[in-house]
Amino acid sequence: MSSRLLLIGPPGAGKGTQAQRLSQALGVPAISTGDIFRAHLRDETPLGKQAKAYMDAGDNVPDSLTNDLVRDRLSQPDAAEGFLLDGYPRTIDQVRALDELLAESGQAMDAVVELVADPDVVVDRLKKRALEQGRADDDEAVVRHRLEVYAEQTAPLIGVYAERGLLAKVDGIGEIAEVTERIASALAARGILFTA
Ligand code: ADP
Repeated sequence: MSSRLLLIGPPGAGKGTQAQRLSQALGVPAISTGDIFRAHLRDETPLGKQAKAYMDAGDNVPDSLTNDLVRDRLSQPDAAEGFLLDGYPRTIDQVRALDELLAESGQAMDAVVELVADPDVVVDRLKKRALEQGRADDDEAVVRHRLEVYAEQTAPLIGVYAERGLLAKVDGIGEIAEVTERIASALAARGILFTA
């Protein structure tokens, strides 16, 4: 059974953590555009140099760069039978690009998991992560800006996927394992079965 899934939710909702766990349980790669961009930044590649200013400011990297990157990643053999996208798409233009890309190979998304988390909780979580991991974009002012960008550019995608009947809303607050269980039951209700 193929699983083509995506995780959507504000910064700090726990998408990365859940994506790792789900990817293992489902046997499909977790593809995080944020992680891929951070690797480019670290390696100082041309793409990393182009993305840096946007990322440091908490703005979205331009769609054209992001869409090319995802097209390249999804064409790799490990994504042929399924994937779990984390942090992509995050604009309407990216939804369009993903739709096109999947249609070209006769594929379609199976489900979209929205991780719901209160802005105050996510700001607290990201403050902690700033201390632990030192991510430049976890500075409080930048976090607030990322939340605004999410509300303006990404939150509208939830309605788009709800209209397509793909949306599973899951409460992202709680123990890590508990949230994974909630995602597993929301997906089971849509016929996507695995042991969390
Ligand atoms: P978070 O979801 O916590 O904000 P991510 O690791 O997903 O963190 O993203 C970090 C940064 O990487 C974003 O603020 C943005 O600059 C860039 N980025 C990641 N994914 C995308 C995307 N799909 N489109 C544009 N920019 C992106």
